[in-house]
Amino acid sequence: MLNNKTDRSERLFEEAKHYIPGGVNSPARAFQAVGTTPRFIEKADAQFIYDADGNKYIDYIGSWGPMILGNNNPGVLKAVQETIVHGLSFGAATGREITMAKLACEMIPCFEMVRMVNSGTEATMSALRTARGYTGRNKIIKFEGCYHGHSDGLLVKAGSALIAEGGSPDSAGVTENCAKDTLTARYNDMDSVEKLFEEYKGDIAAVIIEPVAANMGVVLPQDGFLKNLREICDLHQTVLIFDEVITGFRLAPGGAQQLFGVTPDMATFGKIIGGGMPVGAYGGRRDIMECVAPVGKVYQAGTLSGNPVAMAAGIAQLTCLKENPSVYEHINSLGEMLYGGLKEIIAAAKVDCTVNHIGSIGTLFFTGGQVTDYTSARTSDLKRYAEYFRYMIQHGNYFAPAQFEAMFISDQHTEADIQKTLSDAAVFFGV
Ligand code: PMP
Repeated sequence: MLNNKTDRSERLFEEAKHYIPGGVNSPARAFQAVGTTPRFIEKADAQFIYDADGNKYIDYIGSWGPMILGNNNPGVLKAVQETIVHGLSFGAATGREITMAKLACEMIPCFEMVRMVNSGTEATMSALRTARGYTGRNKIIKFEGCYHGHSDGLLVKAGSALIAEGGSPDSAGVTENCAKDTLTARYNDMDSVEKLFEEYKGDIAAVIIEPVAANMGVVLPQDGFLKNLREICDLHQTVLIFDEVITGFRLAPGGAQQLFGVTPDMATFGKIIGGGMPVGAYGGRRDIMECVAPVGKVYQAGTLSGNPVAMAAGIAQLTCLKENPSVYEHINSLGEMLYGGLKEIIAAAKVDCTVNHIGSIGTLFFTGGQVTDYTSARTSDLKRYAEYFRYMIQHGNYFAPAQFEAMFISDQHTEADIQKTLSDAAVFFGV
């Protein structure tokens, strides 16, 4: 049901703002970029999500990725229910952690060993520390527009810092010192990477990249880009890290590295590996991972890491994905239908828009021309995206509340859902 009332969400938001900064526990939830009240969510089920005013939406966020099997997947829920009765946390080793590690090592091409953590932020922070410990080098290269969580050294913006002394921090509270070892290159631009390798010869510990970028909207790697990164890292004995928090277990059971046939030295995962529970993981080559404590000298720890309930949910989700290739067929064909349909609509409407997509993730950018990096993504008309967002949510489509995000399709979505969303989009664009 859709009544388009937002009174309860508005009241809750006002109250929340009194106790929680901005009323939310993560900034994207405040709907700041789209000029409408954030919907306070009451429940989610299958492909739907329901707000506090009783509105029902088709859910194209899916908790920002993990709900690949749909909300409330019965297998994941059952695993959680069976586990919680035996205790919520032990802070001790369990057999379930071996099951999870084995499963992840079977599915992810670069994994010989894996360490579980509690978020994507922790995973990337720990992977970089490990790469630095392994190589004994300081600098890292990240790409403009790629997000790797909110640890100090990764909140660095790019631009002219490309070949200057390190970057400059993106956030108040991050010191210049924390930022100075983070170098920034341009996505899909090997020249910018090569320049940094020349300038900082022998001091680049790691290159970290989203193998398909999803945090400047969806931006695909151009032909050969990932392979070239692999080669330059080999040449300089630099650790190549794929941040697969969005792409892992989604683009293929073995993530983007399986799909593109390029194997990094390490990879990081988040939310999807926990089936919706707070989880992250980093792993990779055995010789690198054996640098981590207590075997090696790179310290990394976590009271709740490998938590039994989170492991149970994650094992249930990954097992289902591993055993059911039909999930990928289904979400990818719905992806073709949704993103292909959006392309037809914008072509018919003759508007300056571009759709980037791969499998079940995609972004409709409000800009003409190709979007291949942060600079081109930033040419988008954010006011127009906000109008589109407000129209779509009022018609029951729950999209990402910002232009520079992905849409996510789950196994529970149907062709009828996609048709409905497309016909709403067609009306918005006047075709
Ligand atoms: N890496 C990528 C590619 C992400 O998209 C995100 C968050 N969406 C993170 C890291 C950080 O994960 P978390 O929010 O779990 O800390």
